Amino acid sequence: MPLVSMRQLLDEAAKGGYGVGAFNVNNMEQIQAIMEAARETRSPVIVQASRGARSYSQDSYLFHLMIAATELYPEIPVAMHQDHGNSVATCKSAIDQGYTSVMMDGSLMEDGKTPSTFEYNVKVTREVVELAHARGVTVEGEIGTLGGIEDGHGAGGSGLEHLTDPDQAAEFVKQTGVDALAIAIGTSHGAYKFSSKPTGETLKMDRLIEIHKKLPNVHLVMHGSSSVPKELQDIINQYGGKLKPTWGVPVEEIQLGIKNGVRKVNVDTDNRLAMTGAIRKVFAETPEKFDPRDYLKPAREAMKKVVAQRMKEFGQAGHAGDYTPIPLSEMAKMYR
Ligand SMILES: [Zn+2]
Repeated sequence: MPLVSMRQLLDEAAKGGYGVGAFNVNNMEQIQAIMEAARETRSPVIVQASRGARSYSQDSYLFHLMIAATELYPEIPVAMHQDHGNSVATCKSAIDQGYTSVMMDGSLMEDGKTPSTFEYNVKVTREVVELAHARGVTVEGEIGTLGGIEDGHGAGGSGLEHLTDPDQAAEFVKQTGVDALAIAIGTSHGAYKFSSKPTGETLKMDRLIEIHKKLPNVHLVMHGSSSVPKELQDIINQYGGKLKPTWGVPVEEIQLGIKNGVRKVNVDTDNRLAMTGAIRKVFAETPEKFDPRDYLKPAREAMKKVVAQRMKEFGQAGHAGDYTPIPLSEMAKMYR
């Protein structure tokens, strides 16, 4: 099947009461890992590319790999999403390329670092919604800003500086017409999210529940939702890595989010850790090997395992065959 509208994927997830993992990719092995995990668990899935990923892969490589994925896994509904678009132009270029969903992150200015004003955010997001919906493409917006920096994008800090205000979130959705809303509840991008297991003081799940009560029909998005499991950190450090102790978002907190309107869960770091650990292990145990496939195959397998586990934990497993994809041209009519 062709790439699917993310809005449809999320609407179905809302009906079924589950969340859908959105996994970041830069290369073929990561796409293969996600698609294999989706087949094994029969899961619909969101694959997403940051601006950094698009530039790393010269844009065209990555997009054509995704087309290959739809041909090789025709039974899997998959949406292709631009992660953290920094401007209308970035989102437009993704739509022109064939992405079925874009994020306009107007919570930051075009530099991807400086927090913006509410008015600026509404203006650029509204503009993207107009041009995306006309072509049946989904739009995710963001209100409040996350902590940390990933792929050169992010406000930095702990993530507690600009939490999402529930009333402002409601006003933002009303003024922009976004399909999905990323909220800031204390999470950060990257591996170093929390310096100890997060508590209600550092991860504001109450805030998420409050936002969901105000916006029961909006698909909420949790960014920076890797769990950063100790087992994956340990493998890296066991084979010569030097990660400092760190904590991510516990899966049970994500599951609480899913019970309260979270439909898209962004995961990147866990997959990076899994791949790097597997590669380090091969290098350490068999230093005579030099064929990239000797370490990329175990890396791909390690990532597949993590993705498949998350698919089961988020509840999307088993739902790949639930629905027939609506063509983007039909989605465009529905938006009108
Ligand atoms: Zn993000």
